[in-house]
Amino acid sequence: MCLYCGQEATMKKVLMLGTGGTIASEVTPSGLAPALTSAELLRCVPEISSLCSVTCEELFSIDSTNVTPAHWLTIARAIRAHYEEYDGFVIAHGTDTMAYTAAALSYLIQYSPKPIILTGAQKPIVFENTDSKTNLADAFRCAVSDLRGVMIVFNGRVILGTRARKTRTVSLQAFSSINYPELAVLQNGFLMEYIRPSALPAPVFYDKLGERVALMKMIPGADCGMLSYLLEHNDAVIIESFGVGGLPSYQGSGFERVLREAMEAENTI
Ligand code: ASP
Repeated sequence: MCLYCGQEATMKKVLMLGTGGTIASEVTPSGLAPALTSAELLRCVPEISSLCSVTCEELFSIDSTNVTPAHWLTIARAIRAHYEEYDGFVIAHGTDTMAYTAAALSYLIQYSPKPIILTGAQKPIVFENTDSKTNLADAFRCAVSDLRGVMIVFNGRVILGTRARKTRTVSLQAFSSINYPELAVLQNGFLMEYIRPSALPAPVFYDKLGERVALMKMIPGADCGMLSYLLEHNDAVIIESFGVGGLPSYQGSGFERVLREAMEAENTI
């Protein structure tokens, strides 16, 4: 019951998609392995039931090291299929490639007026000192909020899906927002919003991804032969160069020649 208008408050509806990761892992003889379903995760965080009504769907149960673009499409399709039925979406995901999934979903589902939240944990939910419960509860708080678009919610930070990077392997503060402020922070269950990304009344969905895209990270002394190889075997190459785009141009480095030849051959650069 709403204290101000006296009307029955309707609970928001959230779809939780399970994909595996440490958050859902158990200890096995060969190390941690995803085992728990989303419903089992939710049972460990009873406070979520007072925030919203949740429906769970298991998409896959894998270590995110094994996530491929096909998995990104599976997640995007599930959200698209149920978009009208829910007010928000929570995806439980491994941390190692969560930033890639967040970026991919940001392009597959653009201008979403509803929140699409990815979260995970550094320690499984079955561990005593786990960060899973806080991250999961925070993810649902964001999923019922006025935030919109694809985001990562982790360790009290809300990071835009296109800006997140896993910057720490062990620390609970695993993700950073690169060259962009955090959208919001959560403290003791309270959400403080700073930035609300733009949205349209309905999202724009895409259902195809070009998979022949390579990334070359430039290091001092890099061999231009690697760039030639990547250009030959891909439709597009992204060069993570120095500073604002610097490439070696010293005598014999070869990068300018390789790029000129590729442009003349009308390759994508
Ligand atoms: N290797 C795990 C994964 O990315 C790590 C994690 O979930 O945090 O699925």
